[in-house]
Amino acid sequence: MKVHHLNCATMRPPLVAGGIVAHCLLIETDQGLVLVDTGFGMHEVNNPKETINGLSRALLKPLLDINETAIFQVEKRGYGAEDVRHILLTHLDMDHAGGLRDFPNAIVHVLDTELEAATNPPTAKDRMRFPKAQREGVTFQTHKAEGEEWFGFEAVKNIPGLPEDVLMVPLIGHTRGHTGIAVKGDDGWLLHAGDAYFYRGEVETPPSNIFALKLTAKQTETIREQRLSNVERLRELKASGEAEVFCAHDPVELARLA
Ligand SMILES: [Zn+2]
Repeated sequence: MKVHHLNCATMRPPLVAGGIVAHCLLIETDQGLVLVDTGFGMHEVNNPKETINGLSRALLKPLLDINETAIFQVEKRGYGAEDVRHILLTHLDMDHAGGLRDFPNAIVHVLDTELEAATNPPTAKDRMRFPKAQREGVTFQTHKAEGEEWFGFEAVKNIPGLPEDVLMVPLIGHTRGHTGIAVKGDDGWLLHAGDAYFYRGEVETPPSNIFALKLTAKQTETIREQRLSNVERLRELKASGEAEVFCAHDPVELARLA
């Protein structure tokens, strides 16, 4: 499978030199195109206030450039929106699910606990982070966090209808149904770890971090213990060399892989 690494949103939060990206994957499979996360889409570019709340606009300072949308990058490669059959989401935060409405024929795969938290938000924080408009008219297929083991990660799910080398690797903590997505590309396993961590140094040995992103991880977490133990396991996986591990927002990781 051919895997393209895309940036589908540039954001410029304070104290983060170089800003952050929304690292998404475009996968060419025998059954059509598959996207992993969608960053911000045409609706955010054209009408940011609809889905990006004032606090997030002020803190993240999103660039909102049409050239960065997943739909633009799909069309640039000679495909149409209808060629995207499946979208796998690490989670439903606004900077990951923004492009869903640009692909009306796609089935969107998420963990069941994630869609439940977005649909019936148990806290004010959940209500704020998952804008309803991004999910309007979208066809979801939910999955339970249960299945096989994969390099020490549990409950890994093969998704019916997709190649068997595309897996959901639950990494609960940032949100209630947060998951990594593993894909076996031409050069071996890739693990898109979503927002399981924010800075590349967190999964290096020895680990390092920068203040602003450490704070961001803490402020946006939902289940702390699970989040921290997942970072440990991701560091072990990276050290083992069994998979190329990367998160959604680190521009240096994206540049290395793109
Ligand atoms: Zn994010």
